[in-house]
Amino acid sequence: MTRLLHPHVAPQPGGTPLVTPIHQTSTYELPRTAEAAQIAAAVAPGGYYTRYGSPNAREAEAMLADLDGAEAALLVGSGMAAVSAALLSTVVAGGEVLAQRSHYTGTLTLLGTMLPAFGVDVRLVPQEDLAAAVRPSTRVVYVETPSNPTMTVTDLAAVRAAAPDAVIIADNTFATPYNTRPLEFGVDLVVQSATKYLNGHSDVTAGVVTGSAALVAKAWETARVLGPVCHPFEAWLLARGLKTFPLRMARHNASGLAVARFLAAHPAVRAVHHPGLPDHPQHELAARQMDGFGGMLAFTVADADAAVRVLRATRLCRNAVSLGGPETLITHPASLVFAHQSEAELAESGVDAAMLRLSVGLEEPADIIADLAAALSTVDP
Ligand SMILES: *Cc1c(COP(=O)(O)O)cnc(C)c1O
Repeated sequence: MTRLLHPHVAPQPGGTPLVTPIHQTSTYELPRTAEAAQIAAAVAPGGYYTRYGSPNAREAEAMLADLDGAEAALLVGSGMAAVSAALLSTVVAGGEVLAQRSHYTGTLTLLGTMLPAFGVDVRLVPQEDLAAAVRPSTRVVYVETPSNPTMTVTDLAAVRAAAPDAVIIADNTFATPYNTRPLEFGVDLVVQSATKYLNGHSDVTAGVVTGSAALVAKAWETARVLGPVCHPFEAWLLARGLKTFPLRMARHNASGLAVARFLAAHPAVRAVHHPGLPDHPQHELAARQMDGFGGMLAFTVADADAAVRVLRATRLCRNAVSLGGPETLITHPASLVFAHQSEAELAESGVDAAMLRLSVGLEEPADIIADLAAALSTVDP
């Protein structure tokens, strides 16, 4: 974690800045020698053309690869760009993609509609059945842990053991490398929305793919063609946010658990989904696979009407989608996050209309709890 605070800054004539400058340029002057052709042919050159990469992206990538214990990282313009680059660079005709029925909603559309429209064979199974559902024809296994919004955990080591020859891709956005490093469990590629905890300030949209140099190079080639650039200023903001990543995550972990315990004891709350609670169905697995449980949780109240009343009554907790920022956010997944999915996908994701999702932020935990207590007092137990 100390290394995050001391990224390498290229020496510069006239004084080397402590912080990497923002390289706000779309292209770079090339040497008038044979070296130019080498730069053009390189994978992810840092100073050629900004769609191919930039010094700011390279700096954030070095930090992100280090956090995941990965050989390489690819920074792109959104979490969905990372998911798309990882999947599109690994699916092969005739090879099956096996994935969960509950995924981040954009991923569900990619797996459930878009890839099948291109003739890719995708099979979606209940999250807990993933390892048992692997077939000899399975080429790619796509997992998400914990999944949104029910916080169901996927056993990464079990999936690796069941699919020794497949490429396993894990969306680690909720856990983050602070709490789980999927490569240590044998996963091949990790994708994350850097929009969330990694940047952590609700002001950047970005995504990252980490893994072996060979697989990340393939993802880079896909991103070079599709073009989801993470621009220099966004990459610079991300590198800035990453410096406080461990401090923020320690707080998210502690406050997440405190809020989950408060809600679990509240008479108006029917259920709390948080992997750190002993009654979470996979608490034991979560404790094995996670160093901490993060700041995400979902809880259900009596019915849809009560959920809407609680949502309208919070003051500190703001009603917005996204997660992992400094502000505590509350959302109603059934009407917002799943707005582009079918009723069946909603039901299969374990979402019901009485459920609210919380991204526990960096405020004083007592203030978050007081706000929720006041909002919950507006509904009958
Ligand atoms: C937000 C999110 C994404 C998509 O990230 P964007 O940066 O919004 O494109 C993918 N997976 C998970 C689990 C997410 O929470």
